[in-house]
Amino acid sequence: MKVIRSVSKMQRLSRDLTAKGKKIGLVPTMGYLHEGHLSLIRRAKKAADVVIVTIFVNPTQFGPGEDLAKYPRDEKGDIAKIKATGGDYVFSPRAKDVYPEDFCTYVTTEELTKTLEGVSRPTHFRGVTTIVAKLFNITRPDVAVFGMKDYQQAVVLKRMTRDLGYPVKIIIAPTVREPDGLAMSSRNRYFDDRARWEAVCLYYALRSAKEMVKAGQTSVVRINKEMVAVIMATCPTARIDYIAFTDFKTLKPVRRIVRGTVCSLAVEVHGVRLIDNMKLA
Ligand code: AMP
Repeated sequence: MKVIRSVSKMQRLSRDLTAKGKKIGLVPTMGYLHEGHLSLIRRAKKAADVVIVTIFVNPTQFGPGEDLAKYPRDEKGDIAKIKATGGDYVFSPRAKDVYPEDFCTYVTTEELTKTLEGVSRPTHFRGVTTIVAKLFNITRPDVAVFGMKDYQQAVVLKRMTRDLGYPVKIIIAPTVREPDGLAMSSRNRYFDDRARWEAVCLYYALRSAKEMVKAGQTSVVRINKEMVAVIMATCPTARIDYIAFTDFKTLKPVRRIVRGTVCSLAVEVHGVRLIDNMKLA
């Protein structure tokens, strides 16, 4: 496995791989890898001949006051995990190569980024679409794998790929969870023991929503009410940012649970903002 830091070297390499007829799989990450990230690498290996994993803490997707400076990093550990999982190349560029000082070109996907995460993080998705477009240009993937954990991000990137005509197949891989149900996230390391225990409130709420739907409930209002109760019973200091019921593809809100409805939520647990989601029907 090789680690590449130079943008031009990565561009040359991906051109050569494509010329040799190799199918390239891309897994973009911000590092501090956990089992969720590794599952994406395994998924990419199934779909491609060569897997490139990128590690880049992308400054443009962090808003003012968000955790860019303290975002956890462990490049050495990440490289070892990628090697053990069977990744072929790690692309870990320097920020100044990706964003030269006078950088001023951005990619924006419009409608889909104004709801859910976009409400409290208005510049977040512009950063995500810009870096992923750049990574597509640099690594020329045939397939790219993203996690359902960041559901809106996956939908936005799928739309960007189609709208801009990138010849890239987008695969959305399922969320990997801790044994108690908490979705794996690099941010989980911020919790002390008690907060970590209470962080499972998002999963408990989603699970109760799913059970209500299974029992025949279709009212978004009723399910929402129960989810709030479950969250507050598990983590009394939780601050709910949103609980939303939307169509999987369009992200438009639904009034009743129908096929393809996804419930997503953002909750601040002991100062850490967590997101999670589940397909309800
Ligand atoms: P990040 O490093 O947080 O930018 O995440 C990189 C990729 O890993 C994104 O496509 C995420 O959706 C995905 N990912 C993060 N957490 C999980 C998880 N628990 N299960 C599956 N995929 C995940």
